[in-house]
Amino acid sequence: MKPQAIIKHKKRIALVAHDNKKQDMLEWAKYNLGTLQQHFLYATGTTGKLLEQELCLDIHMLESGPLGGDMQVGARIADGDIDFLIFFWDPLAPLPHDPDVKALLRVAVVWNIPIAMNRSSADFIISSTIMNGDYTRKLPDYECYRHRLDK
Ligand code: PGA
Repeated sequence: MKPQAIIKHKKRIALVAHDNKKQDMLEWAKYNLGTLQQHFLYATGTTGKLLEQELCLDIHMLESGPLGGDMQVGARIADGDIDFLIFFWDPLAPLPHDPDVKALLRVAVVWNIPIAMNRSSADFIISSTIMNGDYTRKLPDYECYRHRLDK
């Protein structure tokens, strides 16, 4: 049987926004406040502080993105502790932590978690009927990869 993971009704959502996208994130989160309040929320430091201050959201705050927060989100995804990622990254500005951004997006694909990288995608995800129940996420089978050097 293929490995799988259940994304539960109450989901663990990571929120990350680059500085030029924080207003977008704030507006989106405000619009979806009622829904977001029903889930467990994680965020990188500055994004989380903004959402907490402006919307009184209860957020598990990680380090600021450029200081390792993106990598902390990525590590939680690899550990199976984050169910989906809302990541409004800035396509018009080079950032000091570009490698971390790439690594985060990569690990989200590796583990087949839903990712929204702009408001339209985030709208589609959050209004999906799957938001209201459990969802069986197919886990790619990496056993061959793990044992590729075994004799
Ligand atoms: P921040 O990090 O929420 O601390 O601004 C986001 C990022 O730049 O990845």
